[in-house]
Order: sequence, then structure tokens, then C-alpha cells
Amino acid sequence: MFGGTFDPPHVGHLIAACEVRDVLGLDRVLLVVANRPWQKVGTRAITDAPTRLAMVRAATVGLDGLESSDLEIRRGGDSYTADTLAELHACHPAADLFAIMGADAAAHIDTWQRLDEVRATATIVAYDRAGGIAEERYELDDDIRTIRVPRIDISSTDIRARVAQGRRNDVLCPPGVIRIIDDHGLYRDGDP
Ligand code: ATP
Ligand code: MG
Repeated sequence: MFGGTFDPPHVGHLIAACEVRDVLGLDRVLLVVANRPWQKVGTRAITDAPTRLAMVRAATVGLDGLESSDLEIRRGGDSYTADTLAELHACHPAADLFAIMGADAAAHIDTWQRLDEVRATATIVAYDRAGGIAEERYELDDDIRTIRVPRIDISSTDIRARVAQGRRNDVLCPPGVIRIIDDHGLYRDGDP
């Protein structure tokens, strides 16, 4: 599982998902759209979950093994990785589960709820991303696998800012994602 707010999904997410898929030989990478990213709520306006899911669905079209997942949206409420992994484990008891995240997200893993449950259910995979990488944390922790992925220094925050500035996001976001941003008039007001 590769969880995120995906507001919006961009090429950085896709490069990482594909690279981790290949390096670990994963059958499926689920881009799980957070229903309510509790760590971000209150910091900015978050696009409604169905629209973010539609963008992730559009972003993964044609990419082998990459799938959007509405698991956290169907569950509703705050989104906790521990719950999502428990649900995946219940549905696929024989599957090896991996929780995939960027190094920036892994650096804050101590703030996660029920981290012990996450660790018990899945192998944590942290991949390298430009900026903000606390390397020593991984060296100290044998339980976290690290993977180097081609870096692209773009974030959803950057994409939102670019839209607000009237700049285009060709290539940075897949065409289907750009279409949804345009059709829904997302990010134009410049709320970061
Ligand atoms: P925001 O700027 O709103 O925080 P984001 O681009 O960081 O958005 P998230 O939805 O917060 O995207 O992150 C989902 C996952 O994608 C996290 O594990 C994060 O580390 C990872 N990620 C974000 N940007 C990149 C990138 N450029 N390359 C690879 N992974 C990324
Ligand atoms: Mg982020």
C-alpha cells in the first residue's frame, strides 16, 4: 500500500510507485487515497476525497500493477494506516504486505497512530526523495527497507501553487489529472 492525500497525484508519486514495484517485484501497488488525512486537516483546504480518488484513478491508467484504492474512503472518518493494513490483511491473508512511503513521510513515522500494529502487519518501505532525508534513522532501524528511486523534486503543494499562478502542469501530472483539475476548477484560489 502506498497511501497519500494525492491532492493532486503527480509524476513523483508515479515514479516512486513504479520503481518500488519493480525493485520489490510487487504484484500490485495500491495508491490508497486518504479519506481524512488527520495530520493535514486544519492546515489547508483539502479537496474532497471522491475527487482525489478520481484523480488517482486517472493517474494510474495504463500503468501495470498500479491501482487506485478507495478503501479508506469507504471506511470513512480519519484515515489510519494500521486500519488499512488490517483490512488488506483480512482480505488477502496470504499476501506479503508492504507500506510504502517517501523518506519525508518515514521521518515522521513516530507520530503515526498504532505504529506497532503497522510494523506487525507490513514491511515498511521508505524510498529516497529529494530533500529532508534523515538517513541515520534508517541505518539504525533494520525493520525499515530503503529503496532509492529516481528523484523528482515536485510536490502536490508545488502543483497547487502552480495552478494558482496560472502555470501549466504538463508532464508533472498525467493528462487525466490535469483535466480533472481544470474541470473542477481546483486550486485556483491559492490556498496552499
Ligand atoms: P503535499 O505537498 O500536499 O504534502 P505530496 O506531494 O507530499 O503532497 P502526499 O500525498 O502528501 O504528496 O504524499 C504521499 C506520498 O508520496 C508520501 O509518502 C510522500 O513522501 C510521497 N511523495 C510526495 N512527493 C513525492 C515525489 N516528488 N517523489 C516521490 N514521492 C513523493
Ligand atoms: Mg506531503
